[in-house]
Amino acid sequence: KPVVAIVGRPNVGKSTIFNRIVGERVSIVEDTPGVTRDRLYSSAGWLNHEFNIIDTGGIELDDEDQILRQVREQAELAIDEANVIIFMVDAKTGLTPADEEIARILYKTKKPVVVAVNKVDNPKQRDAIYDFYALGFGEPVPISGAHGTGLGDLLDKVAESFPEQEEEEYDDDVIRIAVIGRPNVGKSSLVNALLGEERVIVSDVAGTTRDAIDTLLERDGQSFVLIDTAGMRKRGKVYEKTEKYSVLRAMKAIERCDVVLMVLNAEEGIREQDKRIAGYAHEAGRGMIIVVNKWDAITKDERTHTMFTRQIRDHFQFIDYAPILFVSAKTKQRMHTILPKVQEVAEQHALRIPTHVLNDLLMDAVTLNPPPTYKGRRLKIKYGTQVSVKPPTFVLFVNDPELMHFSYERYLINKIREAFPYQGTPIRIFIRQK
Ligand code: GDP
Repeated sequence: KPVVAIVGRPNVGKSTIFNRIVGERVSIVEDTPGVTRDRLYSSAGWLNHEFNIIDTGGIELDDEDQILRQVREQAELAIDEANVIIFMVDAKTGLTPADEEIARILYKTKKPVVVAVNKVDNPKQRDAIYDFYALGFGEPVPISGAHGTGLGDLLDKVAESFPEQEEEEYDDDVIRIAVIGRPNVGKSSLVNALLGEERVIVSDVAGTTRDAIDTLLERDGQSFVLIDTAGMRKRGKVYEKTEKYSVLRAMKAIERCDVVLMVLNAEEGIREQDKRIAGYAHEAGRGMIIVVNKWDAITKDERTHTMFTRQIRDHFQFIDYAPILFVSAKTKQRMHTILPKVQEVAEQHALRIPTHVLNDLLMDAVTLNPPPTYKGRRLKIKYGTQVSVKPPTFVLFVNDPELMHFSYERYLINKIREAFPYQGTPIRIFIRQK
């Protein structure tokens, strides 16, 4: 999916517009207790286009120097990450030096820039857009975050600049891996350790059409590709060390992968940001392995392993299916278990249950524990079928979807997992009327 970034100096109204564009899409990540509601990145849709949108907003500062620095970082981030940039300015204040500063940075990019003039709250103020032709990015689009006007025109213009749909560049039998996690958990060290493994043959570093660089490797006849290893290695940019922005890179890698290695740092334990990143991977339906790195660096006794596992299960209840590996990129402890585990998870992620087996399983589950009645009526499951893989997705046909209770759905998923563990992969169920 194309990525759209909104940039602009503080107080031009970026977050308002972001929320309007994203609309009512509430994500599981935000519904997960303990995860802060702080949207920065979301999927969105306009007509028949699906895209991801970034609000490069961040903290609003009042110190002039800090504002300029922040604005610079945002613009650079947008240039790196986005396919199309919405450059937002404010009709009420007119053109400011900070706007010009952003424009100077954006000139460096060949990516399309659309200028949105916010706070044009009534048609009489439309003339305010003329000032902004001076920015040199063509015709500015007047919008109003307060009233939601002009957004259609803005998104039309943005969508015109979306790149052609890119073709998938890897064969189906290549397992695509994304290594994700907060800064300093040891992602690059892990990647290097994986590539340095004796049985691993690094066959290529592929420069793709995107600005990501992938690494191809092979182990015991199985091909893997590590998605965007460049992103992990790119150092020195200020925002790379910012946790928020590291999420963006993770999001893009998640989008292109089959299996996620969700890296945690044993020394630091579990942080809010870890949950957020894992939540995105879960939502995207990817296979997942939790990799606890720096296992060498902590003092352990016979209970440490169990305690750590319990903590992870408590904090990451929504990904209870993910296996956990305790490794050290530094001492190479258990590093050789990672790729075989990835292979297992990838197989489960792509596993199909034959329809008759699924239906026997469902009937047994219903007999064992019939659905409760609701308003005097009882749910009846007619039959089920697996409609897709990656992740395994099932449709259950029932007498009335309203009668399906969340906890009963959960029960059915558990029953499916008892028969087919689907290790490391989320399962999706859709309930349809028949
Ligand atoms: P990234 O930001 O997630 O890519 O993290 P890096 O790979 O750059 O690692 C951050 C720091 O942690 C570096 O100083 C590494 O040397 C250190 N580090 C990485 N893996 C391990 C490990 O397994 N054990 C220990 N003790 N340190 C590690």
